[in-house]
Amino acid sequence: MTMLKSEELKRILAEPKQIVITTHYKPDGDALGSSLGLYFWLTAKGHRVNLIVPSDFPAFLDWLPGLDNVQIYTQDIPLHDRQIADADLLFCLDFNGLGRIQEMGEPIRQARGIKCMIDHHLDPEGFEDYAYWDPTAAATAQLIYRFLVDEMQDAEHISADMATCLYTGIMTDTGSFRFRSTTSEIHRIIASLIDCGAQNWAIHEEIYNSSSENRLKFLGFCLLNRLEVIHPYNAAIIHVTKEDLQQFQVITGDTEGLVNYALSIKGIRLAALIIDRSEQIKLSLRSIGEVPCNEICKLYFNGGGHLNASGGNSKESLEAVIAKFKSILPIYKEILTK
Ligand code: 5GP
Ligand code: MN
Repeated sequence: MTMLKSEELKRILAEPKQIVITTHYKPDGDALGSSLGLYFWLTAKGHRVNLIVPSDFPAFLDWLPGLDNVQIYTQDIPLHDRQIADADLLFCLDFNGLGRIQEMGEPIRQARGIKCMIDHHLDPEGFEDYAYWDPTAAATAQLIYRFLVDEMQDAEHISADMATCLYTGIMTDTGSFRFRSTTSEIHRIIASLIDCGAQNWAIHEEIYNSSSENRLKFLGFCLLNRLEVIHPYNAAIIHVTKEDLQQFQVITGDTEGLVNYALSIKGIRLAALIIDRSEQIKLSLRSIGEVPCNEICKLYFNGGGHLNASGGNSKESLEAVIAKFKSILPIYKEILTK
């Protein structure tokens, strides 16, 4: 099958269509921000759009404009299966393998509609009919902006709500504009989103100054009791037990950013957050420079991601996963210590 081109997609989108937008499991700021940004644009063009996500999402995103329109797949599977089957187009944002959307993967694979993938992760699986994919992009929200401006040639119709959503996606995926992916293009896009009505200060306030008291105490607890620095390998681990999650009533999103504290220690080049989620152990890895988080997750923990930020999971015990992570460090000694 030949891939659809942007001009053809633009022509298809000139007529009102039935559309589904989806994004990955446990959507983060970029996943929801890019999905809502595109949702606003498509609905403003007269399309009928269902935005369906595979799971719940962090509480710190619950202020995003348009959030009332987000439907959670598992809350009414028959309804959402019908919406997916009936869609003329399906936009898959911020992921490129159907495994990342859990039970939604199969219905999306079988859907008759045109599948459009917009994403910045490595190694696309290739389920899509149209790809707007750039693994060097900092965020999918950046690609949505480029898609609308360059491919759909519609720079005029970026509303304040859209701008707010796209700003949020770029801000969260660049760690507030500090990761290596933060190019001058990012700053130009951000400037134009502010011109379109994104209130940068208000968005920062919503995302970063909205912790619950429990969340902050949980952070303090983890830093004091759960952080282990492995000096010979410039690595650090924070582990979280099932009991910790209960004790601090940890909710979705509360562990976001925790791994970065381990990475913030001077000299640390690889940090792992290892959480016992009962049904599985979840890992989040972050690194500096050439240390390949994605390779480590792919080879040893069923996962993947970007060079400096990746994730994975394991069915083994928390202790076994911690031990496995430590046992891998010697393999990367040279790159960790240079
Ligand atoms: P986080 O640590 O924030 O959960 O994930 C960081 C990055 O790792 C995500 O942007 C995503 O690219 C990737 N990632 C997280 N979990 C998984 C996983 O289970 N499988 C794969 N392939 N990638 C993951
Ligand atoms: Mn992203």
